[in-house]
Order: sequence, then C-alpha cells, then structure tokens
Amino acid sequence: MSSDTFPPVSRLVRNMNESATIKMAQMARDLAARGHHVISLSLGEPDFDTPDHIKQAAKEALDAGYTKYTPVPGLPELRQAIVEKFRRDNGLEFDVNQIVVSNGAKQCIANICLALLDEGDEVILFTPYWVSYYEIVRMTGAVPVCVAAGVEQDFKVTPEQVAEAITPRTRMVLFSSPCNPTGSVYSKEELYAIADVLAGHEQIIVVSDEIYEYINFVGSHASIGTHPGIKDRTVTVNGFAKGFAMTGWRLGYMGAPLWLAKACAKIQGQFTSGANAFGQKAGAVALTSDMTPTWQMRDAFRKRRDLVVGLLRQIPGLKVNVPQGAFYAFPDVSDYFGKSFNGQTIRNADDLAEYLLAEAHVATVSGAAFGAPECLRLSFAASEADLTEACRRIKEALGKLG
Ligand code: PMP
Ligand code: GLU
Repeated sequence: MSSDTFPPVSRLVRNMNESATIKMAQMARDLAARGHHVISLSLGEPDFDTPDHIKQAAKEALDAGYTKYTPVPGLPELRQAIVEKFRRDNGLEFDVNQIVVSNGAKQCIANICLALLDEGDEVILFTPYWVSYYEIVRMTGAVPVCVAAGVEQDFKVTPEQVAEAITPRTRMVLFSSPCNPTGSVYSKEELYAIADVLAGHEQIIVVSDEIYEYINFVGSHASIGTHPGIKDRTVTVNGFAKGFAMTGWRLGYMGAPLWLAKACAKIQGQFTSGANAFGQKAGAVALTSDMTPTWQMRDAFRKRRDLVVGLLRQIPGLKVNVPQGAFYAFPDVSDYFGKSFNGQTIRNADDLAEYLLAEAHVATVSGAAFGAPECLRLSFAASEADLTEACRRIKEALGKLG
C-alpha cells in the first residue's frame, strides 16, 4: 500500500512542519558524524553547564526520595518560589493556584494553545516569531496572523500594526521579549503602548514568553502583564532552560488567570502529568539562590554578541541588527538571493542555510522558519573561537557567490 494513497500518519502530522531549529541541529550532527568539522550555530542552547548548586540540589532531592509523581501543576514548594519570583522580578502578583509547571516552556505554550483555541480562531504572532509558535497554533486549527517588523524597525511591531490586525476572531496575541530569533527587547513604554490597544479587546488573551528574561543586555526587563488594562488576561511564560542553562532538564512554568491555569493543568494531566520531581526541587533552589552564575553567563553572551555583530558587519551585503537580549543574531541576507556558485543559485534563506552548511560547514537556521524569509539566524551561544571561525567561513563562502 502506497503511503500516498493511504498515509500511515494522521492529518495533523501531515499538515505540520518539523521544527527547523531541531532539523538543522540534526543535519549538523549528521555532517559532523561523517568526519567534518562542523560549527553548529543552529540550536538555541547555552553552551554552559547548569550551575553546580542547582545540580547539587537535584542530587540531594533524588537521595531524599523525590522519585515519585508530583501534583500535575507542580510541587507546592516550586510553585511558591515562582510566585515570589514573579513578584520580585516582574511586579506580577499571582496566587499559587495560578502557577502551572510543565516540561519546558514549550509545553506551557502548547497547553495554553490547546486550552484556548478553537478552529478558526486567530492568533496574532509578532513576526519574526519563535518557530514553534506557528506550528503549535496551527495544530489547534487556529490561524496564525503574522504582524511583521523588519530589521529597519529593529524587528519590533508597533501598536498601530497590532490594532490593524485585530478582528472579532482574534483570541490570542503571542510573542517573546527578549525575542527569539531577533534578540529585540521591547521597553516598558513599547509594551504598554501595545497593551493600551489590547485593553480595548476583552476577548484577547495575551501570552508573554519571557524565557530570555535574564539574558538581557539593556538592563531592564519589562512584563506586559503588569499593565492594568490586561493584567487579568495575560499569561506570563518562563522557564529554566536559558537563564540557568537547563535545556535538558525540561522545566518551564506559567502564571495565568486561574481558569486558564486549571484548563492547562487538566490538559497536562492527560498528556504528561507533573514535571519530573527532583528537577522541580532543583528549580526551586535555582529561583531562590544567588544569581551570580546567571549574570556571568549573560555577560559572556554580551561579549559574544559584540564579537559576532562586529564580524558580521564586516561581511558585504548583510544588514545586521544589534540584539539586545537572548543569544541570536538575525542578519538580513537577501542581498545574496539570486547569486550562484558552481551552478547552484541561492533563491532564498533556506538555500543559503543549506549552502553554508555544505560549503562552510556552519549550521544556521533559515529565517523562513521564523516568518522572516530574508534573514538567517545564528546562535551565539558558542565559544568565541568557534564564533570567530564560523564568521570567517561564512564570509569566505558568501564571497564565492556571484
Ligand atoms: N520560547 C522561546 C522563545 C524559546 O526560544 C524556547 C526555546 N527553547 C522555548 C520557548 C522553549 O523552551 P523550553 O526549553 O523551556 O521548552
Ligand atoms: N528554542 C531553541 C531554538 O529556538 C531550542 C530549539 C527548540 O526548542 O526548538 O533553537
């Protein structure tokens, strides 16, 4: 039986795209396994290890018997630490029952979308958006509505653009600041101007993904959820992966309106149950202890940001923004579209990402996956030596295109 006439997988899977970040990371691993020296700037993952005191807390939790199921929305101790974190860092007030802990911020976003969206609902994505937002929204049958901002406006959407995109079907607005993939950081004033627009639309839930909060080079992080006009219908998502270098621990959390927190816990109770027990114990320690290791990682990222932006700016034809947070550069590479090497023409950013992997052995991610087909994403969560060499190779490979 042909899989064309009788597809073995569901319509859901057939209609969804594989995560481009994960796909490029795997292509880089495959090429490296064939003996090439590949520099992977594809996956957004701190190259640092989790700070020792957090690892220690997990080991102690294991020894203390934290090896069992936990309540679905999380251990009370961690949820309480999250309440205090939101108050301390963000000026957000939540009751412990409004906190849901999940297997990564990714699951938080999936929970929220599944809990809220029906077929045909519209979700405004500030574009460039993080790759998984688009696909998760589509999986629910809802429609992503991309509100786009290019490099000339520092990749930040304006309140006027948001106002224009709202229709009676708009159910959600979803964005990250600091932003993956652009590194743009919305100021409090910018967020409040957007919130002023959203305040007039009671049916809209605002989802603010703040997972890069601690990787911020401008000093002040603002949470849109403090705006009085929308605070009762804003969900603030965060996690441990980036700020504490805990990607593999799979731990994220949200603070949400009580009805939505309950709906998310109901969904999670069927899919995965509570996040892993000893990881949650360590998470509580991460949120309540000295943040010096986090600030050291942030400072290293800032240094690498300066290095990468400086090197990319020396490559003719690239338009390079200055990321104010996270660990991604997102140059506009469209000057190279239409150019060729050895009979191969670069039609778009997908082609360019493939060309750079094949020719320079540098893995990046096409901006197309983030709704910005004129750009390329490079993670600078890599060593300074690798970043310098990667930029040298990129410059050389681009120089061959004519
Ligand atoms: N949101 C954004 C903007 C991200 O870049 C990521 C990447 N990991 C996530 C959410 C998911 O984080 P987690 O690893 O906690 O699932
Ligand atoms: N968020 C990271 C990225 O954008 C990790 C990969 C993923 O979760 O998709 O590269």
